[in-house]
Amino acid sequence: MEGEAKELKVKLLSYTTDAELLCGAAALTSTRSGSPSEILEKMDSKTAKRIIKRVTGYGHVSVIEHASFTFSIEDVSRALTHQLVRHRIASYTQQSQRYVTYDTLEKYVTPPSITNNAEAKKIFDEALEEISGTYKKLLKLGVPKEDARFILPNAAKTNIIVTMNARELRHFFNLRCCTRAQWEIREVATEMLKQAKKVAPALFDNTGPSCVALGYCTEGRMKPPDCNVEEIRKLFRNL
Ligand SMILES: Cc1cc2nc3c(=O)[nH]c(=O)nc-3n(C[C@H](O)[C@H](O)[C@H](O)COP(=O)(O)OP(=O)(O)OC[C@H]3O[C@@H](n4cnc5c(N)ncnc54)[C@H](O)[C@@H]3O)c2cc1C
Repeated sequence: MEGEAKELKVKLLSYTTDAELLCGAAALTSTRSGSPSEILEKMDSKTAKRIIKRVTGYGHVSVIEHASFTFSIEDVSRALTHQLVRHRIASYTQQSQRYVTYDTLEKYVTPPSITNNAEAKKIFDEALEEISGTYKKLLKLGVPKEDARFILPNAAKTNIIVTMNARELRHFFNLRCCTRAQWEIREVATEMLKQAKKVAPALFDNTGPSCVALGYCTEGRMKPPDCNVEEIRKLFRNL
């Protein structure tokens, strides 16, 4: 992937304890006479994995809504978070430009297509310096941060914490791990999937862009010509 992966800061902060056991028990609750607590008590990891696979395979994915995952996503652009918060079945808290000052050039993300092009980088850096200078001048003139921020670009860095349940995460990964997604959110989504899969592999089995779960690309003529579905599927199955 072409992004600045080494600068990516994605951390799985918290997740539902025994997420797979819980979702497995939830799935059995509909067909067993015992109570959910009794079913959970008797549930073991192997059974839970098998049941999750079977039930979600039927399309009954509501059972995995009982597991939640909270990520800290740090030093990403406002361009990324604007896309992230379009996903509605989630909770977010984001650093506020009303309170945080953009007083250094460290507070901006530079896309790799600009970093790797000396002339573009020069133009980009000059524009950022100009914006930063104007921002600081506005603050000096007594303009409050909440108004001075109107001059800030999509490149402005931000921090956000997001909580999604496993069903919404799978949907989010379908859309945002795809090569059609923008590079920065694709890198963040892929890292989130990697970390979630590590702690709850059965909940994210066969998860990734739509081609991983479905076996074919859903993007039709929008599919990038250099996207190799076989390679992508291999990549995500071994993530
Ligand atoms: C490659 C790519 C390009 C994009 N380009 C654009 C663009 O040019 N312009 C733009 O505006 N957006 C764009 N988007 C954003 C996109 O349109 C969605 O807003 C975003 O991906 C959130 O996905 P979602 O609506 O499926 O699901 P979420 O908000 O994550 O919700 C999950 C699911 O819940 C259900 N749901 C949620 N809310 C409702 C509701 N109110 N009514 C009924 N069902 C609901 C739906 O089944 C939905 O799929 C793009 C996204 C991608 C991945």
